Amino acid sequence: MGRIALKIDVDTLRGTREGVPNLARILDRARARATFLFSLGPDHTGWALRRVFRPGFLKKVSRTSVVEHYGVKTLMYGVLLPGPDIGRRAAAQMRAIRDAGFECGIHTWDHVLWHDNVRERDREWTIEQMTNSYRRYAEVFGAPPATHGAAGWQMNEHAFQQIDTWGMRYASDGRGHGPYRPCVDGEPLRHVQMPTTLPTFDEVLGIDGVDETSIAAKMLSLTAANDRDHVFTLHAELEGQKLAPAFEQLLEGWRAQGHQLVAMADYYAALDLSQVPSADIAWGEVPGRSGELIVQSL
Ligand SMILES: [Zn+2]
Repeated sequence: MGRIALKIDVDTLRGTREGVPNLARILDRARARATFLFSLGPDHTGWALRRVFRPGFLKKVSRTSVVEHYGVKTLMYGVLLPGPDIGRRAAAQMRAIRDAGFECGIHTWDHVLWHDNVRERDREWTIEQMTNSYRRYAEVFGAPPATHGAAGWQMNEHAFQQIDTWGMRYASDGRGHGPYRPCVDGEPLRHVQMPTTLPTFDEVLGIDGVDETSIAAKMLSLTAANDRDHVFTLHAELEGQKLAPAFEQLLEGWRAQGHQLVAMADYYAALDLSQVPSADIAWGEVPGRSGELIVQSL
């Protein structure tokens, strides 16, 4: 029986306050476990408006209707309104998720800043950003985070090393086909990367005529064989809001296919660690998403 780890990226204040509790209800109804990864610092989503001038972005906007999903106010954060501090403003919603029995971890400190810069930045910048998120997580939860999943699947070698320094046993920072120990300077790190193996909703919507009513069927066609494990990344801002009905259909379909819906911790606990290979970290593209991100080399 295949396991599907549900990894929930939470990018914005609105997603934390509205999408996260919605998802918790949906997951409870489906008796699914999951891991919520929070953005703990300023919400600078509005900076993303600058991406309008980059190739590929307009295509994505019209396909997924960014304004409809994120809301006009969220898109103004960092442009006309100061970016609100998510970890301070939504700490109660975050703790409620932990108290409901879901695994929690770090997505990022400042999503837009990390996403647009980390690839080129040095060790000092990287560790400062990560330390901000770690400290805030400990403040909110009174305990250290179990895991990390990078914003936009953007990382650098210092960030991968920091996962080891924190003593995390597993993280999910890139895309790929199965668990591996990432190599830095030719040496495998101690932690296991469990990459996202399935496409995200926003990568599939609008391609080959897939819309909100057919996306669950499209995703289910990718997991029908049920002969391997998967990691699926969803977003509080999408599946927790406008795309919630499609996500509920998908959960039902996965159950019918016989999949176990688990948190990252469950997925890790079921691994045979002696069989986890090492692999180099690489940059590559995935269909339906603009720009390069962390991928698993073969
Ligand atoms: Zn994100």
